[in-house]
Amino acid sequence: MANSMALEVKKKREPFVPPDGWVVQAFQFALDLTDDQRRICARQWGGRRYAYNWTLRTIKTGVDNYNATGVESEPPSFYRLRKQWNAAKDTLCVDSETGEMWWPAVGKEALADGVRGAVEGYWNWQRSKSGNRKGRKMGFPRFKKKGRDQDRFTITTGVMRLEPDRRHLSISKLGCVRTHENTRKIERLVTSGRARILAVTVRRSGSRAIASLRVIVARPQQPSSGATSVVGVDVGVRTLATVANAEGRVLERVANPTPLANELSALRRLNRQRSRRQKGSRQYRASNEQITRLHRRIRDIRVHHIHNLTTRLAKTHGTIVVEGLDAAGMLCQKGLNGARARRRGLADAALAEPRRQLRYKCSWYGSQLIEADRFFPSSKTCHTCGHVQDMGWARSWTCDECRAIHDRDDNAAINLARWPKCQSDDLGGVAAPVKHGAVHKTGPRPAAGVDMRKSRRTERLAGATP
Ligand SMILES: [Zn+2]
Repeated sequence: MANSMALEVKKKREPFVPPDGWVVQAFQFALDLTDDQRRICARQWGGRRYAYNWTLRTIKTGVDNYNATGVESEPPSFYRLRKQWNAAKDTLCVDSETGEMWWPAVGKEALADGVRGAVEGYWNWQRSKSGNRKGRKMGFPRFKKKGRDQDRFTITTGVMRLEPDRRHLSISKLGCVRTHENTRKIERLVTSGRARILAVTVRRSGSRAIASLRVIVARPQQPSSGATSVVGVDVGVRTLATVANAEGRVLERVANPTPLANELSALRRLNRQRSRRQKGSRQYRASNEQITRLHRRIRDIRVHHIHNLTTRLAKTHGTIVVEGLDAAGMLCQKGLNGARARRRGLADAALAEPRRQLRYKCSWYGSQLIEADRFFPSSKTCHTCGHVQDMGWARSWTCDECRAIHDRDDNAAINLARWPKCQSDDLGGVAAPVKHGAVHKTGPRPAAGVDMRKSRRTERLAGATP
């Protein structure tokens, strides 16, 4: 199928837009499955994988056919392929030993989800190839394999209900499942009509099953919270966040929990242990599970701290200024000694995540978020005299002009707090506040590291101002 033709035929599906004053939110609960439910769940995951692979094979045949003969087939669409799948499933989904048809046990929802996954994978690849998709280049979707697959299925219709005891979730095929956490936060909203469940995804995370509820929640945009404080927030590796105001006072330094750094030696030990074991053996699987569990713990600690931080910031301050740094680009920095450890530290701090969360939380709690220009030299500018100089990765530095000694993070936060003002003075109000949580599926991702470009910019600035 010709790429340009195909793209003309199929326009990108518009993302779901909730009614005004409602937002789409996700709520996750770890599930406490019984042995029976665990088996049913595994069956759903396997069924979805089968439908996905079948769809991908069908699409791939079309593509290969086009490459060989030049004969175009219809571009893949979810509705057409689901129809094709439904017509074929009676002959496809048959147990080779018993001759029994197995698809009714899985349910058409999970299977249709597999078809959708493959079609979406195809279009992500196609759009990425033709430059219509932002972000990292996407490859052609790959076949899923048991054991390597991120097992999951999504249902959008059928039973998906929170039980009034706030400890159970009813999902079609699985039945009534106990949750590890209390579901009170969302159950209350659903009962009072302020929330509606759109979909439920059950995925595997190591040995755990996690249910994610996609919910629309009534959250009218808050009027201003009344807080008038303007603060700059510098997100970093040494301290997770430094909060300062324009008067040059540091209000808060939030320690970085560095979950990966704390567990790194344990993680290395487990990885060494696994590498000594026979692949696929019981022992190997045991180490594997321990590693997965440790990774999950690291991630959970990181997520918890960042959520706490961003909620507190959005609730207590009127205007928050953050750096518009290119975090993905920073993870590409190479060269100097210790660059690898530095990249690991950057990844551990999840630098872009606070900004992403603030984008939506600020509108929830009635504060305003301003993202400074990504070339704004916040850490290289002396906040006392305005001199800009290079100082590498050092923690503190001395200004060549006024001999003031600065802590890198404190200085950056103070400069950020002053950013909106200096923008409106010099250039006439470029500091546009970020509106509602925008739909960012992916962002641009330039290849080079931000430090390189920043220094070039700094040289230019330094040259311009005598
Ligand atoms: Zn200075």
